[in-house]
Amino acid sequence: MTNPNFEFKPASDFIREDAPERYIYNMASDKHEIAISTHDLQVSYGDNLALSEGDLEFERYKITSLIGASGSGKSTFLRSLNRMNDDVATVNGQIMYRGVDINTKNIDVYEMRRHIGMVFQRPNPFAKSIYDNITFALTQRGNYTKEQLDEIVETSLKQAALWDQVKDELNKSALALSGGQAQRLVIARALALKPDILLLDEPSSALDPISSAQVEDTLIELKNQYTIIIVTHNMQQAARISDYTAFFHLGKVIEYDLTRKIFTRPKVALTNDYISGNFG
Ligand code: ADP
Ligand code: MG
Repeated sequence: MTNPNFEFKPASDFIREDAPERYIYNMASDKHEIAISTHDLQVSYGDNLALSEGDLEFERYKITSLIGASGSGKSTFLRSLNRMNDDVATVNGQIMYRGVDINTKNIDVYEMRRHIGMVFQRPNPFAKSIYDNITFALTQRGNYTKEQLDEIVETSLKQAALWDQVKDELNKSALALSGGQAQRLVIARALALKPDILLLDEPSSALDPISSAQVEDTLIELKNQYTIIIVTHNMQQAARISDYTAFFHLGKVIEYDLTRKIFTRPKVALTNDYISGNFG
């Protein structure tokens, strides 16, 4: 399956010339192509080892949920995938993306984050118009014609299932949008950069049930074109939308499998305890 929106960029696009070493990563078979993988990932905040034994592979064009009790290391893991922990934590281990360890010092982090986008828990539109929210990052770094920008705005908003609601008021402030609309705008903003992988940290936990359902529907639509990794504390949500689920506990990945296996016959007793609502 090809992604019409994804412009293949070789790793050399976001590795600077002076990068010390390039890894050749063997992609899995076409059927189970790996979009990004972690190896021996460990993250510490000072003396607190918040994540250990982080070894996961994420399949392309699938939705993978990260579940687990509060404090189990889900956000820590997710943020590592596009180096959002750089300034706050010590990160060890490898994160392989397109043959490159993104933890390599010489990575152009900005460029890498265009490939691996992030959406946070609370919708965070800029205090700008709907249109400018989507074009802002693009116009900062590139030259686009008005026609190109119009096209990108329309496509991104359509992908995020927001176009029909806002197409006549693109100059309206994004701060006037409802929570669900704002979160879909933020998703559209991330999509405008044509990412390959979309990371979402509890994107609907601050939303009402209707907005939350809209965001879920949007994600299901998007997975044909994007690899999605989502942290959720809502197990029904994980069961509804994800193909794979990883269960985190005390900074470790306890079990990782097809979502339907995790929720019907998990192999590990602790997973069963968690999905049965015995803790967390
Ligand atoms: P989750 O997302 O599963 O709730 P987190 O990844 O946020 O878990 O937290 C895992 C552990 O790391 C917790 O013990 C938490 O207190 C700690 N932690 C998370 N973020 C920070 C931070 N910025 N500074 C210090 N400790 C943190
Ligand atoms: Mg979290």
